[in-house]
Amino acid sequence: MAGIYIHVPFCKERCTYCDFYTVTDESRMDEFVEALCIEAESRKEEVKEPVQTIYFGGGTPSRLSTEHFSAIFDTLYRHYPIDPAAEITVEANPDDLSEEYLIRLAQQPINRLSIGIQSFNDEELKFLSRRHSAQQAIDAVKRSQQHGFSNLNIDLMYGLPKQSKEVWQHNLQQATELGVPHVSAYHLIYEEKTRMHALLLAGKITPADEETSAEMFTMLYDWMARHNFIHYETSAFGKEGFFSRHNSSYWKNREYVGLGPAAHSFDGDSRSWNIASNIKYNEGIKAGIPVRESELLSPTDKYNEFIITGLRTIWGVNLVELEARFGKTMYQHCLKAAEKYLQKNLLTMEENTLKVTREGLFISDGITTDLMWMK
Ligand code: SF4
Repeated sequence: MAGIYIHVPFCKERCTYCDFYTVTDESRMDEFVEALCIEAESRKEEVKEPVQTIYFGGGTPSRLSTEHFSAIFDTLYRHYPIDPAAEITVEANPDDLSEEYLIRLAQQPINRLSIGIQSFNDEELKFLSRRHSAQQAIDAVKRSQQHGFSNLNIDLMYGLPKQSKEVWQHNLQQATELGVPHVSAYHLIYEEKTRMHALLLAGKITPADEETSAEMFTMLYDWMARHNFIHYETSAFGKEGFFSRHNSSYWKNREYVGLGPAAHSFDGDSRSWNIASNIKYNEGIKAGIPVRESELLSPTDKYNEFIITGLRTIWGVNLVELEARFGKTMYQHCLKAAEKYLQKNLLTMEENTLKVTREGLFISDGITTDLMWMK
């Protein structure tokens, strides 16, 4: 199974907590699309199997015009074997999803939207410096549904400074009332070099304490389970048949081609990444100068990725596959490291597959680190 990731490095404004590669100067968007199409064509040989998923991430892909999408899809369909049933996702911000834009988006091959809502509370949205209001978020979801986008994800954020459990409960309730089949919920992370991190260092905000964060996660987990969502990855909750196929393929270590500035690619043996600069990317692609660096993964890297991605998901770490791919020594290391967690019911073993239990979720980073190969 092959996937294509497209990084759209433009945002109207930068959110205080975000460290993704993106710029707020949108004047080079045409140039970017042109370069992207050149890169897509030049890398067509890398994809041998039908493309099952295409994912426009960013940045804010909904800053692209539908003419931009048409140009990109023309190139992709011309040069890649795209499965007619491919999942094609576009990340969007609520305030971009106007009636007119949605009508035009619905005419593209796009069949899934991932809407960056983060909160249904105006104060929280202001704190995160999001561009939309709670009402705009609700309207955007409803409008998307009216225009045929039933396969919808919304992003939510918890563990914000001063976030009350009541507001978090309200956010969860609003999400399920809207009838979306997928929710991604992330704890706020203070990434270095973000404005949020600077506020933290300056003592202007107090992060949520561990106990509150754990309680909010429990509320999330229970609420989603009660509404028939399956917790299939650390941050992802989907109804049956609505798991993100694109993200699932990352977690199953499948191959993908990443196009655009700062996009990453994986071919099963090595990872590569495009330069994180719009200007250098555009110029390099047009001049035929390489804009990509890569690293070959060692067996240890591959083993560790197998553990990290497996323990994040409901598919777990299959020990038969682990032994076949990485040999007896790594298999025994994994089993030995898992022992104490199995005894404490923080891990379970079903059909030769290790999975993190609900109790283990709170310390899953520590479990993962223990099972990794550190030599
Ligand atoms: S809209 Fe998304 S990508 Fe852009 S700055 Fe905000 S969080 Fe980052």
